[in-house]
Amino acid sequence: MTRRFIAALMRHETNTFSPVPTPLRDFGRIGPTDGPARGAEALRVYRGTNNPVAAYIDLAAAEGAELVFPIAANAHPSAPAPGEIVALCADAICAAVAKGCDALFLDLHGAMVTQEHDDGEGELLRRIRAVAPDLPIAVALDFHTNLSAAMVDNATVIAGYRTYPHIDMYETGERAGRTLIRALNCEVDPVMVWHSLPVLTHMNRHAPSMQPMRDMYARAIAAESSGAVLNASVFGCFPLADIPHVGLSAIVVADGSRDAGERLLYDILREGWDRRDEFVFAVEPVADSIAAAKAFDDGPVLLIDHGDNTGSGGNQDVMAVLAEVMRQGLEDVCAGPFCDPQSVAQMIAAGVGATVTIQLGGKVDMPAMGLRGEPLEVSGIVRRITDGQFTVTGPMFTGVALNIGRCAVLDTGSVEILVSEGRYEPFDTGAFTHAGIDPARKKYVLLKSRQHFRAGFEPLAKHIVMVSGPGACTSDYSLFPWKNLRRPIYPLDPETESNLPTQS
Ligand SMILES: [Zn+2]
Repeated sequence: MTRRFIAALMRHETNTFSPVPTPLRDFGRIGPTDGPARGAEALRVYRGTNNPVAAYIDLAAAEGAELVFPIAANAHPSAPAPGEIVALCADAICAAVAKGCDALFLDLHGAMVTQEHDDGEGELLRRIRAVAPDLPIAVALDFHTNLSAAMVDNATVIAGYRTYPHIDMYETGERAGRTLIRALNCEVDPVMVWHSLPVLTHMNRHAPSMQPMRDMYARAIAAESSGAVLNASVFGCFPLADIPHVGLSAIVVADGSRDAGERLLYDILREGWDRRDEFVFAVEPVADSIAAAKAFDDGPVLLIDHGDNTGSGGNQDVMAVLAEVMRQGLEDVCAGPFCDPQSVAQMIAAGVGATVTIQLGGKVDMPAMGLRGEPLEVSGIVRRITDGQFTVTGPMFTGVALNIGRCAVLDTGSVEILVSEGRYEPFDTGAFTHAGIDPARKKYVLLKSRQHFRAGFEPLAKHIVMVSGPGACTSDYSLFPWKNLRRPIYPLDPETESNLPTQS
Protein backbone atom coordinates (compact mmCIF):
# COMPACT_ATOMS: atom_id res chain seq x y z
CA MET A 1 0.00 0.00 0.00
CA THR A 2 1.26 3.49 -0.82
CA ARG A 3 2.54 5.34 2.22
CA ARG A 4 1.25 8.82 2.95
CA PHE A 5 3.83 11.33 4.19
CA ILE A 6 3.13 14.82 5.46
CA ALA A 7 5.71 17.61 5.26
CA ALA A 8 5.33 21.04 6.82
CA LEU A 9 7.46 24.07 7.54
CA MET A 10 7.31 26.61 10.37
CA ARG A 11 10.33 28.87 10.72
CA HIS A 12 10.97 32.06 12.62
CA GLU A 13 14.09 33.11 14.49
CA THR A 14 12.77 35.40 17.21
CA ASN A 15 14.91 38.19 18.62
CA THR A 16 12.93 39.17 21.70
CA PHE A 17 14.70 42.59 21.72
CA SER A 18 13.83 43.39 18.10
CA PRO A 19 11.62 46.39 17.26
CA VAL A 20 10.63 44.76 13.94
CA PRO A 21 7.05 43.41 14.20
CA THR A 22 6.09 39.94 12.92
CA PRO A 23 2.55 40.05 11.51
CA LEU A 24 0.99 36.83 10.17
CA ARG A 25 1.23 38.09 6.59
CA ASP A 26 5.04 38.05 6.90
CA PHE A 27 5.02 34.23 7.15
CA GLY A 28 5.24 34.03 3.37
CA ARG A 29 8.94 34.94 3.38
CA ILE A 30 9.77 32.91 0.30
CA GLY A 31 7.50 33.28 -2.69
CA PRO A 32 4.90 35.90 -3.55
CA THR A 33 2.69 34.90 -0.65
CA ASP A 34 0.59 36.87 1.77
CA GLY A 35 0.96 34.75 4.91
CA PRO A 36 1.84 31.04 4.98
CA ALA A 37 1.91 29.13 1.68
CA ARG A 38 -0.38 26.12 1.43
CA GLY A 39 -0.59 22.89 -0.54
CA ALA A 40 0.34 23.21 -4.19
CA GLU A 41 1.80 26.69 -3.73
CA ALA A 42 4.04 25.51 -0.88
CA LEU A 43 5.23 22.65 -3.07
CA ARG A 44 5.91 24.95 -6.00
CA VAL A 45 7.86 27.45 -3.90
CA TYR A 46 10.07 24.99 -1.99
CA ARG A 47 10.65 22.08 -4.37
CA GLY A 48 14.20 22.03 -5.68
CA THR A 49 15.53 24.60 -3.20
CA ASN A 50 18.21 24.27 -0.53
CA ASN A 51 15.75 23.73 2.32
CA PRO A 52 15.07 20.68 4.52
CA VAL A 53 11.54 20.40 3.19
CA ALA A 54 12.86 20.09 -0.36
CA ALA A 55 14.74 16.97 0.76
CA TYR A 56 11.52 15.61 2.29
CA ILE A 57 9.76 16.13 -1.04
CA ASP A 58 12.51 14.20 -2.85
CA LEU A 59 12.64 11.43 -0.22
CA ALA A 60 8.88 10.89 -0.52
CA ALA A 61 9.20 10.61 -4.30
CA ALA A 62 12.10 8.15 -3.99
CA GLU A 63 10.03 6.03 -1.61
CA GLY A 64 7.04 6.11 -3.92
CA ALA A 65 5.05 7.70 -1.10
CA GLU A 66 2.24 10.20 -1.46
CA LEU A 67 3.30 13.60 -0.12
CA VAL A 68 0.97 16.17 1.41
CA PHE A 69 2.42 19.62 2.19
CA PRO A 70 -0.32 21.46 4.10
CA ILE A 71 1.55 24.56 5.24
CA ALA A 72 4.81 26.49 4.94
CA ALA A 73 5.04 29.42 7.37
CA ASN A 74 8.38 31.19 7.09
CA ALA A 75 9.09 34.68 8.43
CA HIS A 76 12.22 36.78 8.52
CA PRO A 77 13.88 37.12 11.96
CA SER A 78 12.09 39.74 14.06
CA ALA A 79 10.17 40.31 17.30
CA PRO A 80 7.95 37.64 18.96
CA ALA A 81 5.33 36.29 16.55
CA PRO A 82 1.59 36.26 17.21
CA GLY A 83 0.53 33.06 18.99
CA GLU A 84 -1.95 32.31 16.17
CA ILE A 85 0.89 31.21 13.90
CA VAL A 86 1.48 28.08 16.00
CA ALA A 87 -2.26 27.36 16.11
CA LEU A 88 -2.52 27.89 12.36
CA CYS A 89 0.34 25.47 11.63
CA ALA A 90 -0.78 22.92 14.22
CA ASP A 91 -4.36 22.94 12.88
CA ALA A 92 -3.24 22.54 9.26
CA ILE A 93 -0.87 19.69 10.14
CA CYS A 94 -3.33 17.92 12.47
CA ALA A 95 -6.09 18.14 9.85
CA ALA A 96 -3.77 16.51 7.30
CA VAL A 97 -2.70 13.86 9.82
CA ALA A 98 -6.34 13.06 10.60
CA LYS A 99 -6.86 12.03 6.98
CA GLY A 100 -4.22 9.32 7.33
CA CYS A 101 -0.46 9.63 7.75
CA ASP A 102 2.45 7.21 7.99
CA ALA A 103 5.09 9.78 8.92
CA LEU A 104 5.44 13.51 9.48
CA PHE A 105 8.50 15.49 8.31
CA LEU A 106 8.92 18.93 9.82
CA ASP A 107 11.18 21.78 8.75
CA LEU A 108 11.36 24.01 11.85
CA HIS A 109 13.71 26.70 13.12
CA GLY A 110 14.07 25.94 16.82
CA ALA A 111 14.20 29.54 18.11
CA MET A 112 10.64 30.72 17.67
CA VAL A 113 9.11 32.75 20.49
CA THR A 114 5.49 33.85 20.26
CA GLN A 115 3.59 36.35 22.36
CA GLU A 116 2.05 33.32 24.15
CA HIS A 117 4.84 30.71 24.18
CA ASP A 118 8.58 31.04 24.68
CA ASP A 119 9.03 27.76 22.78
CA GLY A 120 7.00 27.93 19.56
CA GLU A 121 8.34 24.65 18.14
CA GLY A 122 7.84 22.80 21.43
CA GLU A 123 4.24 24.00 21.50
CA LEU A 124 3.64 22.94 17.88
CA LEU A 125 5.04 19.46 18.50
CA ARG A 126 3.09 19.11 21.75
CA ARG A 127 -0.17 19.87 19.91
CA ILE A 128 0.60 17.38 17.14
CA ARG A 129 1.63 14.68 19.62
CA ALA A 130 -1.62 15.21 21.54
CA VAL A 131 -3.64 14.01 18.54
CA ALA A 132 -1.10 11.54 17.13
CA PRO A 133 0.67 9.84 20.06
CA ASP A 134 2.45 7.19 17.94
CA LEU A 135 3.14 9.12 14.74
CA PRO A 136 6.80 8.94 13.61
CA ILE A 137 8.01 12.57 13.39
CA ALA A 138 11.29 13.79 11.88
CA VAL A 139 12.40 17.35 12.62
CA ALA A 140 15.13 19.38 10.91
CA LEU A 141 16.30 22.36 12.98
CA ASP A 142 18.43 25.44 12.39
CA PHE A 143 21.91 25.60 13.94
CA HIS A 144 20.48 28.47 16.05
CA THR A 145 18.07 26.26 17.93
CA ASN A 146 17.43 26.71 21.62
CA LEU A 147 16.71 23.05 22.24
CA SER A 148 13.93 22.20 24.72
CA ALA A 149 12.42 19.16 26.39
CA ALA A 150 9.11 19.83 24.62
CA MET A 151 10.79 19.53 21.22
CA VAL A 152 12.68 16.34 22.04
CA ASP A 153 9.88 14.61 23.96
CA ASN A 154 7.42 15.07 21.11
CA ALA A 155 9.60 14.07 18.14
CA THR A 156 11.09 10.78 16.92
CA VAL A 157 14.21 12.03 15.13
CA ILE A 158 15.90 15.47 15.28
CA ALA A 159 18.82 16.69 13.18
CA GLY A 160 20.31 20.18 12.90
CA TYR A 161 22.22 22.21 10.33
CA ARG A 162 25.97 21.68 10.60
CA THR A 163 26.95 24.96 8.92
CA TYR A 164 26.73 28.70 9.61
CA PRO A 165 26.18 30.31 7.11
CA HIS A 166 23.54 27.66 6.58
CA ILE A 167 24.34 25.92 3.32
CA ASP A 168 23.40 22.35 4.33
CA MET A 169 19.68 22.85 4.80
CA TYR A 170 18.68 20.27 2.19
CA GLU A 171 21.23 17.82 3.56
CA THR A 172 19.81 18.26 7.07
CA GLY A 173 16.35 17.35 5.81
CA GLU A 174 17.87 14.30 4.15
CA ARG A 175 19.67 13.25 7.35
CA ALA A 176 16.56 13.53 9.53
CA GLY A 177 14.23 12.16 6.86
CA ARG A 178 16.37 9.11 6.01
CA THR A 179 16.61 8.07 9.64
CA LEU A 180 12.84 8.27 10.02
CA ILE A 181 12.27 6.24 6.84
CA ARG A 182 14.73 3.60 8.08
CA ALA A 183 12.72 3.48 11.30
CA LEU A 184 9.48 3.08 9.31
CA ASN A 185 11.11 0.16 7.50
CA CYS A 186 12.06 -1.34 10.91
CA GLU A 187 15.77 -1.14 10.07
CA VAL A 188 16.58 1.06 13.07
CA ASP A 189 15.06 2.09 16.38
CA PRO A 190 15.80 5.80 17.05
CA VAL A 191 16.45 6.80 20.66
CA MET A 192 17.26 10.45 21.37
CA VAL A 193 19.50 11.83 24.11
CA TRP A 194 20.18 15.53 24.54
CA HIS A 195 21.58 18.14 26.89
CA SER A 196 21.72 21.93 27.11
CA LEU A 197 24.65 23.72 28.77
CA PRO A 198 24.35 27.06 30.63
CA VAL A 199 26.54 28.73 27.97
CA LEU A 200 25.44 31.76 25.96
CA THR A 201 27.72 31.41 22.95
CA HIS A 202 28.49 34.50 20.91
CA MET A 203 27.14 34.46 17.36
CA ASN A 204 30.46 35.74 16.04
CA ARG A 205 32.28 32.89 17.73
CA HIS A 206 30.11 29.77 17.46
CA ALA A 207 30.11 28.84 13.76
CA PRO A 208 31.03 25.22 13.00
CA SER A 209 33.88 26.55 10.83
CA MET A 210 35.46 28.08 13.96
CA GLN A 211 36.91 26.60 17.10
CA PRO A 212 35.83 25.07 19.40
CA MET A 213 32.61 24.23 17.49
CA ARG A 214 34.69 22.73 14.73
CA ASP A 215 36.17 20.11 17.04
CA MET A 216 32.79 19.47 18.68
CA TYR A 217 31.20 18.96 15.28
CA ALA A 218 34.06 16.77 14.10
CA ARG A 219 33.08 14.29 16.84
CA ALA A 220 29.41 14.44 15.84
CA ILE A 221 30.08 14.05 12.12
CA ALA A 222 32.53 11.19 12.64
CA ALA A 223 30.02 9.28 14.77
CA GLU A 224 27.20 9.82 12.29
CA SER A 225 29.27 9.01 9.20
CA SER A 226 30.66 5.81 10.71
CA GLY A 227 27.16 4.64 11.62
CA ALA A 228 28.00 4.55 15.34
CA VAL A 229 24.88 6.67 15.82
CA LEU A 230 22.01 7.56 13.48
CA ASN A 231 22.32 11.36 13.77
CA ALA A 232 24.36 13.72 15.91
CA SER A 233 23.85 17.49 15.94
CA VAL A 234 25.19 20.42 17.94
CA PHE A 235 23.27 23.68 18.30
CA GLY A 236 25.10 26.96 18.83
CA CYS A 237 21.91 28.45 20.38
CA PHE A 238 20.18 31.69 19.45
CA PRO A 239 21.44 34.06 22.14
CA LEU A 240 19.24 37.08 21.37
CA ALA A 241 16.24 35.61 23.16
CA ASP A 242 15.24 36.48 26.70
CA ILE A 243 13.80 33.05 27.52
CA PRO A 244 14.82 30.31 29.96
CA HIS A 245 15.90 27.52 27.57
CA VAL A 246 18.71 29.30 25.72
CA GLY A 247 22.02 27.45 25.71
CA LEU A 248 24.68 25.54 23.80
CA SER A 249 23.20 22.08 23.26
CA ALA A 250 23.54 18.79 21.42
CA ILE A 251 21.31 15.88 20.49
CA VAL A 252 22.23 12.36 19.48
CA VAL A 253 19.87 9.91 17.82
CA ALA A 254 21.19 6.47 18.77
CA ASP A 255 20.01 3.11 17.48
CA GLY A 256 18.16 1.00 20.02
CA SER A 257 19.83 2.06 23.26
CA ARG A 258 20.82 5.29 24.97
CA ASP A 259 24.35 4.12 25.80
CA ALA A 260 26.26 5.00 22.62
CA GLY A 261 24.36 8.26 22.37
CA GLU A 262 25.07 9.32 25.92
CA ARG A 263 28.83 8.78 25.67
CA LEU A 264 29.04 10.82 22.47
CA LEU A 265 26.77 13.54 23.85
CA TYR A 266 28.94 13.86 26.92
CA ASP A 267 32.18 14.01 24.91
CA ILE A 268 30.85 16.71 22.60
CA LEU A 269 29.52 18.93 25.36
CA ARG A 270 32.46 18.34 27.70
CA GLU A 271 34.65 19.82 24.96
CA GLY A 272 32.30 22.81 24.59
CA TRP A 273 32.23 23.41 28.32
CA ASP A 274 35.99 23.08 28.81
CA ARG A 275 36.60 25.55 25.96
CA ARG A 276 33.71 27.92 26.75
CA ASP A 277 36.01 30.95 26.86
CA GLU A 278 36.56 30.48 23.10
CA PHE A 279 32.87 31.30 22.53
CA VAL A 280 33.35 34.83 23.92
CA PHE A 281 33.63 37.74 21.46
CA ALA A 282 35.62 40.85 22.42
CA VAL A 283 33.81 44.04 21.41
CA GLU A 284 35.92 46.88 19.90
CA PRO A 285 34.81 50.54 19.49
CA VAL A 286 33.40 51.29 16.00
CA ALA A 287 35.94 54.08 15.32
CA ASP A 288 38.85 51.67 16.01
CA SER A 289 37.47 49.06 13.60
CA ILE A 290 37.00 51.61 10.80
CA ALA A 291 40.49 53.03 11.40
CA ALA A 292 41.91 49.51 11.13
CA ALA A 293 40.03 49.03 7.84
CA LYS A 294 41.31 52.33 6.53
CA ALA A 295 44.89 51.12 6.98
CA PHE A 296 44.53 48.30 4.41
CA ASP A 297 46.11 48.97 1.00
CA ASP A 298 44.16 46.38 -0.94
CA GLY A 299 40.52 45.41 -1.16
CA PRO A 300 37.77 44.49 -1.19
CA VAL A 301 37.65 44.98 2.57
CA LEU A 302 34.35 43.80 4.02
CA LEU A 303 33.05 45.97 6.87
CA ILE A 304 30.52 43.85 8.72
CA ASP A 305 28.08 45.89 10.79
CA HIS A 306 26.75 43.04 12.93
CA GLY A 307 24.89 44.97 15.64
CA ASP A 308 22.03 45.81 13.27
CA ASN A 309 21.74 42.63 11.25
CA THR A 310 18.23 42.02 10.01
CA GLY A 311 19.08 38.32 9.82
CA SER A 312 19.09 38.39 13.63
CA GLY A 313 16.14 40.75 14.06
CA GLY A 314 17.88 44.10 13.46
CA ASN A 315 15.88 46.97 11.92
CA GLN A 316 18.63 47.48 9.31
CA ASP A 317 18.48 51.24 9.44
CA VAL A 318 20.97 52.11 12.20
CA MET A 319 23.37 54.57 10.57
CA ALA A 320 26.24 54.72 13.10
CA VAL A 321 28.73 52.60 11.13
CA LEU A 322 28.15 54.32 7.77
CA ALA A 323 28.42 57.68 9.57
CA GLU A 324 31.83 56.65 10.93
CA VAL A 325 32.97 55.39 7.49
CA MET A 326 32.09 58.79 6.02
CA ARG A 327 33.60 60.70 8.96
CA GLN A 328 36.95 58.91 8.51
CA GLY A 329 36.78 59.56 4.76
CA LEU A 330 36.94 56.03 3.31
CA GLU A 331 36.77 56.07 -0.51
CA ASP A 332 35.44 53.65 -3.12
CA VAL A 333 32.80 52.17 -0.81
CA CYS A 334 29.52 50.40 -1.49
CA ALA A 335 27.17 49.98 1.45
CA GLY A 336 23.84 48.43 2.27
CA PRO A 337 21.19 47.53 1.83
CA PHE A 338 19.71 49.98 4.32
CA CYS A 339 15.97 49.53 4.82
CA ASP A 340 14.24 52.88 4.39
CA PRO A 341 11.08 52.91 2.23
CA GLN A 342 10.71 56.66 2.74
CA SER A 343 14.15 57.43 1.26
CA VAL A 344 13.53 54.99 -1.63
CA ALA A 345 10.29 56.83 -2.45
CA GLN A 346 12.07 60.18 -2.28
CA MET A 347 14.81 59.02 -4.67
CA ILE A 348 12.31 57.44 -7.07
CA ALA A 349 10.35 60.70 -7.10
CA ALA A 350 13.56 62.63 -7.83
CA GLY A 351 14.54 60.20 -10.59
CA VAL A 352 17.83 58.76 -11.88
CA GLY A 353 20.46 61.47 -12.31
CA ALA A 354 18.90 63.86 -9.79
CA THR A 355 20.94 65.33 -6.96
CA VAL A 356 19.19 64.84 -3.63
CA THR A 357 19.75 65.29 0.09
CA ILE A 358 18.02 62.66 2.20
CA GLN A 359 17.63 61.84 5.87
CA LEU A 360 18.74 58.23 5.52
CA GLY A 361 17.70 55.49 7.95
CA GLY A 362 17.15 55.98 11.65
CA LYS A 363 13.37 55.64 11.25
CA VAL A 364 12.96 52.88 13.85
CA ASP A 365 13.39 53.27 17.61
CA MET A 366 14.69 50.31 19.62
CA PRO A 367 12.89 50.67 22.96
CA ALA A 368 14.09 47.33 24.38
CA MET A 369 17.66 48.57 23.92
CA GLY A 370 16.95 52.12 25.11
CA LEU A 371 17.98 53.46 21.66
CA ARG A 372 16.31 56.07 19.45
CA GLY A 373 16.54 55.99 15.65
CA GLU A 374 18.94 58.63 14.29
CA PRO A 375 18.83 59.42 10.55
CA LEU A 376 22.04 60.37 8.71
CA GLU A 377 21.86 63.32 6.33
CA VAL A 378 23.53 62.39 3.03
CA SER A 379 23.67 64.13 -0.36
CA GLY A 380 24.43 62.58 -3.72
CA ILE A 381 23.19 61.56 -7.14
CA VAL A 382 20.47 58.95 -7.63
CA ARG A 383 22.29 56.38 -9.78
CA ARG A 384 19.81 53.55 -10.16
CA ILE A 385 16.29 52.47 -9.33
CA THR A 386 15.29 48.79 -9.36
CA ASP A 387 12.32 46.56 -8.55
CA GLY A 388 14.45 44.70 -5.99
CA GLN A 389 13.98 41.29 -7.58
CA PHE A 390 16.82 38.85 -8.15
CA THR A 391 17.55 35.14 -8.02
CA VAL A 392 20.18 33.83 -5.61
CA THR A 393 23.25 32.41 -7.34
CA GLY A 394 25.42 31.89 -4.24
CA PRO A 395 25.53 28.79 -2.03
CA MET A 396 22.87 29.82 0.51
CA PHE A 397 19.20 29.52 -0.60
CA THR A 398 20.55 28.82 -4.09
CA GLY A 399 17.95 29.32 -6.80
CA VAL A 400 15.44 31.13 -4.58
CA ALA A 401 13.82 34.20 -6.17
CA LEU A 402 14.05 37.14 -3.76
CA ASN A 403 12.18 40.40 -3.67
CA ILE A 404 13.67 42.98 -1.30
CA GLY A 405 11.29 45.73 -2.37
CA ARG A 406 12.08 48.62 -4.66
CA CYS A 407 15.68 49.81 -4.36
CA ALA A 408 17.56 53.03 -5.10
CA VAL A 409 21.29 53.71 -5.21
CA LEU A 410 22.60 57.03 -3.89
CA ASP A 411 26.13 57.92 -5.02
CA THR A 412 27.87 60.39 -2.70
CA GLY A 413 31.09 60.31 -4.72
CA SER A 414 32.84 58.20 -2.08
CA VAL A 415 30.06 55.78 -1.24
CA GLU A 416 27.41 54.05 -3.34
CA ILE A 417 24.58 53.48 -0.87
CA LEU A 418 21.98 50.82 -1.65
CA VAL A 419 18.63 51.60 -0.03
CA SER A 420 15.75 49.10 -0.10
CA GLU A 421 12.10 49.05 0.88
CA GLY A 422 12.40 45.61 2.45
CA ARG A 423 14.80 44.05 4.93
CA TYR A 424 17.43 41.63 3.66
CA GLU A 425 20.66 40.28 5.14
CA PRO A 426 23.14 40.30 2.25
CA PHE A 427 24.15 36.64 2.01
CA ASP A 428 24.24 36.85 -1.79
CA THR A 429 25.86 39.48 -4.00
CA GLY A 430 22.68 39.71 -6.09
CA ALA A 431 21.33 42.59 -4.00
CA PHE A 432 24.24 44.73 -5.27
CA THR A 433 24.77 43.33 -8.75
CA HIS A 434 21.09 43.62 -9.67
CA ALA A 435 21.47 47.34 -8.87
CA GLY A 436 24.54 47.71 -11.07
CA ILE A 437 27.13 47.62 -8.26
CA ASP A 438 29.92 45.04 -8.46
CA PRO A 439 31.19 44.58 -4.88
CA ALA A 440 34.23 42.68 -6.17
CA ARG A 441 35.52 45.93 -7.72
CA LYS A 442 35.06 48.10 -4.61
CA LYS A 443 37.76 48.89 -2.06
CA TYR A 444 35.23 48.67 0.80
CA VAL A 445 31.95 46.80 1.08
CA LEU A 446 29.85 47.74 4.12
CA LEU A 447 27.29 45.04 4.89
CA LYS A 448 24.69 44.71 7.60
CA SER A 449 25.26 41.05 8.39
CA ARG A 450 26.88 38.83 10.97
CA GLN A 451 27.88 35.55 9.38
CA HIS A 452 25.66 34.83 6.38
CA PHE A 453 27.59 37.36 4.26
CA ARG A 454 30.30 34.72 4.16
CA ALA A 455 28.19 32.61 1.79
CA GLY A 456 28.28 35.15 -1.04
CA PHE A 457 30.95 37.71 -0.14
CA GLU A 458 33.81 35.92 1.62
CA PRO A 459 35.20 34.50 -1.66
CA LEU A 460 35.72 38.01 -3.05
CA ALA A 461 37.15 39.56 0.15
CA LYS A 462 40.80 40.37 0.79
CA HIS A 463 40.07 41.39 4.38
CA ILE A 464 37.11 41.17 6.74
CA VAL A 465 36.62 43.67 9.57
CA MET A 466 33.91 42.87 12.11
CA VAL A 467 32.37 46.16 13.28
CA SER A 468 30.38 46.15 16.55
CA GLY A 469 27.77 48.77 15.67
CA PRO A 470 24.80 49.55 17.94
CA GLY A 471 21.38 47.94 17.46
CA ALA A 472 18.89 45.28 18.46
CA CYS A 473 21.45 42.52 17.91
CA THR A 474 24.42 44.26 19.49
CA SER A 475 27.45 42.09 20.05
CA ASP A 476 27.78 43.42 23.58
CA TYR A 477 25.44 41.01 25.34
CA SER A 478 25.76 42.90 28.61
CA LEU A 479 23.63 45.67 26.99
CA PHE A 480 20.52 43.46 26.76
CA PRO A 481 17.99 43.99 29.58
CA TRP A 482 17.74 40.27 30.47
CA LYS A 483 14.77 39.28 32.64
CA ASN A 484 13.83 35.68 31.77
CA LEU A 485 17.13 34.14 30.70
CA ARG A 486 18.30 31.14 32.73
CA ARG A 487 20.87 32.27 35.29
CA PRO A 488 23.59 31.70 36.05
CA ILE A 489 24.80 31.47 32.46
CA TYR A 490 28.34 31.80 31.13
CA PRO A 491 29.82 34.32 30.27
CA LEU A 492 27.31 36.79 31.79
CA ASP A 493 27.92 35.01 35.09
CA PRO A 494 31.60 34.03 34.94
CA GLU A 495 31.35 31.66 37.92
CA THR A 496 28.64 29.49 36.31
CA GLU A 497 29.14 25.80 37.04
CA SER A 498 28.78 22.94 34.60
CA ASN A 499 25.50 21.00 34.60
CA LEU A 500 27.01 17.99 32.84
CA PRO A 501 26.40 14.71 34.62
CA THR A 502 29.45 13.28 36.34
CA GLN A 503 30.76 10.36 34.32
CA SER A 504 31.86 7.18 35.99
ZN1 LIG B 1 20.39 30.23 11.92
